[in-house]
Amino acid sequence: MDFPGKRLILVCHCILNQNAVLRGWERARGAFPFAADLMKSGYGVIQLPCPELLFLGPDRPPMSYEDYARLSGYREHCIRLLEPVLKELSICSRKGYRFRGVIAVRESPNCALSERRGVFMELLFERLRELHLSTDFIELPVWYAEGEERDFRKRLDDFLRGKRDES
Ligand code: SF4
Repeated sequence: MDFPGKRLILVCHCILNQNAVLRGWERARGAFPFAADLMKSGYGVIQLPCPELLFLGPDRPPMSYEDYARLSGYREHCIRLLEPVLKELSICSRKGYRFRGVIAVRESPNCALSERRGVFMELLFERLRELHLSTDFIELPVWYAEGEERDFRKRLDDFLRGKRDES
């Protein structure tokens, strides 16, 4: 085996920490169960910060994309949070590390990528394109929860092997 594997993936914060989500909207006790597969996959896992928690705290109300998009200072806050992550990815990619892409959260006003893209992801993907880094992604389905995994582990495995997620 070669150490390190020089393969990286970005995950939205709450994939590894459901304590960050809106009160009553948690879908697992802590990390999502598929995180165990990620840890064994040979990928280095970089956890993005949760932009909502760090701006409005744990007792924030449910808000839409439009609410976040017009919230004063919020985009600047997201840009500040993304900078160290993007710096790490840039440094590593210059050293030959392979960046697979992002595990996002469907229908989140900040972390969704299909249909209505979240505010945080819009800013992240803008910068990934500028830096010529991968913009591949897979999204956590809205039905996924601890105890309700259906085919998601298989889809994740395909994604980690380099297939584009079509769902
Ligand atoms: S903003 Fe993103 S990381 Fe934070 S709880 Fe929502 S989906 Fe998860």
